[in-house]
Amino acid sequence: MKKRLIIDMDDVLADTGAKILRIFNERNNQNLTKDFFEDKDFYSYVRQSHFDSYRNELFEPGFFSDLESFPDSVEVVKALHEKYEVFVVSAATEFPNSLTEKVRWLERHFPFISWRNMVFCGDKSIVHGDIMIDDHARNFDKFEGEKLLFHSMHNTQVEGYRRVRDWKEIYEILYTGGDINK
Ligand SMILES: [Mg+2]
Repeated sequence: MKKRLIIDMDDVLADTGAKILRIFNERNNQNLTKDFFEDKDFYSYVRQSHFDSYRNELFEPGFFSDLESFPDSVEVVKALHEKYEVFVVSAATEFPNSLTEKVRWLERHFPFISWRNMVFCGDKSIVHGDIMIDDHARNFDKFEGEKLLFHSMHNTQVEGYRRVRDWKEIYEILYTGGDINK
C-alpha cells in the first residue's frame, strides 16, 4: 500500500509569503526580502506597532488566486504522486473566499491532483497520514507520522524538526530515498 503524503498549500506549494511580503512592503514603505528574516521571525517583526498589517488582505476576494507556485513543486509533486497517496490539505476555512480560489489554483497548477485529494479544513489535527510537509509546526502537534518543516520566513527560528528548503530537497528525501530523519 502506498504511504499517505499530506502536503500543505500556503508557503509549501503556493508562495503566499512572497505576496504577503510585497503587500507589507507597499503598506509600510519597506523593501524587505525573505532573506532579511533568516535570523528573526517574520510575525514578531511585523507585529511591531508602528507597522500597518497586511492581514486584512487575506480576506479579500482574489488574494489566493494569483500566487506563484514554488520552483520545482509541480514536477516533484507529480513524481511523488506516482509513489505516494498524495493529499493536499489546507487549513483554509478561516478565509472563506479562499476555498474556490484554492480549488481553481490547484486545478491550474497541479491538474493531476483529483478533487478527491484536496482537503480544506480548519484544524489539521483531524488529518492522518504517514508524512506531512508543512510550514507551521503547530500542524505537527497531533500528527503521528514523519514531519518535514518547509522553510519559510515565519519559521526560521523554529527548531526540532527536519527542515527542507525547497522541492529539490524534498525530492531527494521522498523520491530517491534519502533519510527523512537526518
Ligand atoms: Mg502553510
